Amino acid sequence: MSNLLACAEERVYFKDLASRFIFVSAGWIAAYAPGMTAEELIGKTDFDVFSDHHASSALEDEQQIIRTGEPIVGKVERETYQGRADAWVSTTKMPLRDPFGAIIGTFGMSRDVTAQIKAEQMLARHAQRLTSQNESLRELDRLKDEFIGLVSHELRTPLTSIIGYIELLREHGGGPDADRFVDVIERNAERLLRLVGDLLFLSQMQSGQLVLDLRDTDLAGLAVEAVEEARPYAQRRHIVLDLSAGFVPRVSVDPTRIAQLLGNLISNAVKFTPEGGKVGVTVAVEGGEAVLSVTDTGIGIRAADRERIFERFFRTEAATRRVIPGSGLGLTISQAIVEAHEGTITVRSDEAHGSTFTVRLPLGLGSSPRPGALVLAQVSA
Ligand code: ADP
Repeated sequence: MSNLLACAEERVYFKDLASRFIFVSAGWIAAYAPGMTAEELIGKTDFDVFSDHHASSALEDEQQIIRTGEPIVGKVERETYQGRADAWVSTTKMPLRDPFGAIIGTFGMSRDVTAQIKAEQMLARHAQRLTSQNESLRELDRLKDEFIGLVSHELRTPLTSIIGYIELLREHGGGPDADRFVDVIERNAERLLRLVGDLLFLSQMQSGQLVLDLRDTDLAGLAVEAVEEARPYAQRRHIVLDLSAGFVPRVSVDPTRIAQLLGNLISNAVKFTPEGGKVGVTVAVEGGEAVLSVTDTGIGIRAADRERIFERFFRTEAATRRVIPGSGLGLTISQAIVEAHEGTITVRSDEAHGSTFTVRLPLGLGSSPRPGALVLAQVSA
């Protein structure tokens, strides 16, 4: 038995009542005291081999076994070594008795269970990751429901109007109101087209498929076009629309995207301003940046909402209460366009006087574009 244990790969030891080694197996020496011999270890204690903390805890366990006669079975402990990775062991210790049953020491056996513990820890980490993935899926599901609700409403409103006016046209034929009916149909069809365009843009943005097509551009010229495009809408709403453009050197931007950005900001300004109000667009240069700003005398945005208006689908309570149409996508898209140009977009607003959206674009963009900077930023949820 003694010969067998001496060679065994298992970590086996026998100790006397004072927890001094009487016997250790080859496996025990290999694991804890490589280089020493079994003879050298006899008479020594755990304090000669392990850290004080570890040795005291083992001594405490062994004294308890000697006191009570009760074994300690499968106790899993972490062992820390200097210069070696920590390990986990499962230890079973029993009282050692003489032929008459009196306790004369302890004996025990330990097994390295590091692989098992690591696997369990990995499983726990996986389970945690799954739980959090599950939560984000649930959140996505909620967003999807919200999205479907909102988009169906945004699709249905103009479609209902288009169908209604087509019916009117049919009833009245080419009567005096025909032009007005056709105008309404056209406006609603454009609104639908814009919504579908925004949704497409958003999905391309999310899959990182959109890249900028940089060209030498006259920003003031773009602003003139954007203002003229919005003028009929402003006139219909009896809103004065002004443009003030200073000299701006040509900049390298994606003109289609910047036009889209200006269109979004101007149409928002007109949309959220009560009839009789004013919207002003300015283009200028300030400290190495082109500055585009759109100011309105509209309903304003509460301080608490100012960060959130850039989130997709977010609309203020003031907008929904007044039943002002919109999808909550315009500013998300605008911010992504600005950031792809390495610029910034900020808002100042006051519920009594209106809002100002300011876009700053670096004038030097394009001369040394950073690789990867031209891919439109992905939208965060
Ligand atoms: P949409 O205009 O389609 O609702 P946006 O993303 O363009 O979506 O704007 C998000 C929200 O920010 C709007 O619903 C509105 O509540 C608020 N907002 C945007 N521009 C203005 C503005 N000029 N004045 C007041 N509120 C605004």
